Amino acid sequence: MSVRTKKVKSVGRFGTRYGVRIRRRIREVEVRQKGWHECPACAAPRVKRAGTSVWECRKCGHKFAGGAYYPRTPAYNANERVLQEVAAGKTPTIVPETPVEE
Ligand SMILES: [Zn+2]
Repeated sequence: MSVRTKKVKSVGRFGTRYGVRIRRRIREVEVRQKGWHECPACAAPRVKRAGTSVWECRKCGHKFAGGAYYPRTPAYNANERVLQEVAAGKTPTIVPETPVEE
């Protein structure tokens, strides 16, 4: 498919409305949201968003819950770490993490 927009990509649907900066932020999120992500089951980069927080691998069919716009979020990682520590019989160290882009 040819590229219809030089630089605005998916936020071209907003036209000139809402301001440049907010449109750029939405574009950043949507470029990542709509791209291919790595499958946690088969490791193939074939995961697409199937709905809000729902991710599906187009290769092995693995369907799982994740972040609303990305499969993994800083909160997801923090929870996973705590669960692993509990599973290992340790007392989890719960540190409120500052949201960082993974
Ligand atoms: Zn898979």
